[in-house]
Amino acid sequence: PRVLFWHRRDLRLTDNLGLAAAAAISPAVTGVYVLDPQVISPSEHLLPMAPARLWFLIESLIELQQRWRDAGSRLLVVEGDPVQLLPQLAERIAAEAVVWNRDVEPYARERDRQVAQRLQADGRKVVVDWDQLLIAPELLKTGGGDPYRVYGPFLRNWRGQVQAKQPVTVPAPAGLVDLDPAAVPSGEPLMARRDSHGFKGTELCPCRPGEAAAMQQLTSFCDGALFGYEPDRNFPGVVGTSYLSAALSVGTLSPRQAWSAAQEAREQARSEEQLHAIAVWEQELCWREFYQQALFHFPELSDGPYREQWRRFPWENNEDWFDFWREGQTGMPIIDAAMRQLNQTGWMHNRCRMIVASYLVKDLICDWRWGERAFMELEVDGDLAANNGGWQWSASSGMDPKPLRIFNPATQASKFDAAGDYIRQWVPELRHVNTKDLLSGEIGALERRDYPEPLVNHKTQQAKFKALYATIRS
Ligand code: FAD
Repeated sequence: PRVLFWHRRDLRLTDNLGLAAAAAISPAVTGVYVLDPQVISPSEHLLPMAPARLWFLIESLIELQQRWRDAGSRLLVVEGDPVQLLPQLAERIAAEAVVWNRDVEPYARERDRQVAQRLQADGRKVVVDWDQLLIAPELLKTGGGDPYRVYGPFLRNWRGQVQAKQPVTVPAPAGLVDLDPAAVPSGEPLMARRDSHGFKGTELCPCRPGEAAAMQQLTSFCDGALFGYEPDRNFPGVVGTSYLSAALSVGTLSPRQAWSAAQEAREQARSEEQLHAIAVWEQELCWREFYQQALFHFPELSDGPYREQWRRFPWENNEDWFDFWREGQTGMPIIDAAMRQLNQTGWMHNRCRMIVASYLVKDLICDWRWGERAFMELEVDGDLAANNGGWQWSASSGMDPKPLRIFNPATQASKFDAAGDYIRQWVPELRHVNTKDLLSGEIGALERRDYPEPLVNHKTQQAKFKALYATIRS
């Protein structure tokens, strides 16, 4: 029998559970990736895809095509509506079965439902299962049988299940057969798009596209920085995290590969501190799964605030302020450093994502959904579940049990960039300013030169925000 395997957010051959299932049906597997205009171009319904992410996607696909050739078969890359294209392709290669890995995003789920319906109507077998999560969302329920809304108890259940399962990785399939090369078109749209993503930070971006690079990054992280992940992960000026977010998001790396590498590192750990650091990194992998299961069980998260009363919040939504924030021109150095890092490299440190999100929402009193969209326009790792989760957490509209969280950007900068190295790297025009003023943002006019004055005063805005919050609390 012939089989069609549909890649989506699993751009790898190694440890791809759906692909392994496809190859178990028959070695005559053909791969397909659909460049869906709804996803890769600005569309009405979906958040945008950043040029950085498009770059990462295209380069990863180019590598994946070579891997398919090496494995003996072919990855087709076609452009259009998957609901139309998948049944057509299955027809052309006379596939008996079509296989893919499931997704949590509402758009993907509805699309998949329609694709499956058409394929089944044509008499084809459809095989789907989970691959992008260590534990399937249906398996993680509270004692009362409900989905989790709070991270702490989710983590306990998740960790217990992962440890009981001890996930292993499956090898890439080999000896595949490309039965009828003439029946299907080759991957032209991909090469045409290679130079049109518009992302200028390809050299600066710390996330590297492709399966091979993801594995290299994982290995070098687990041989080094992982052992000091806690506390190093907190400091944006330190190379202390894995930079694997884009790889995990498009699936050039699987969560099982990440988990297994962490378990191997445990064997090498030489102290309780190092074991603790590894456990903290595992918890970050769990945050990824927490937000994915949340989106799976509560798809309405993608439409607005999880806590109902936040729909009534009287945002000020000053467009000029928003633009200054987006461009890194707010006059608050830690904010501008972080936003410039994102603009230039497509990636931002997690601590800074929390700081700039809190600042946009709580200091500039701007709707968090503006920030959510701006991040998706810029991030190489833009991911609906993680980004929405991060923004709702920062806005206090999400599943965080703490009712209101307000970060003071100056305090955050003092704690996490105490010497000002990170700020000086990204806001070079302030290199000469003394560290105290750099962190507080209180820089005299002479010292400031062309750097903008602060847009707002944190204390004043905090008071204003709290007064507005009081109006929606009741
Ligand atoms: P590491 O510290 O090495 O962590 C390992 C992996 O765990 C990450 O690669 C990521 O897959 C996962 N992870 C870590 N922290 C989180 C988290 N808080 N939530 C979910 N997953 C996490 N992450 C994205 O992948 N895509 C996004 O679009 C995104 N948007 C965010 C928006 C906001 C406002 C905030 C506060 C956080 C956002 N994050 C997002 C989470 C986090 O900032 C990034 O995953 C992390 O900075 C990526 O760097 P890393 O790969 O070096 O992470």
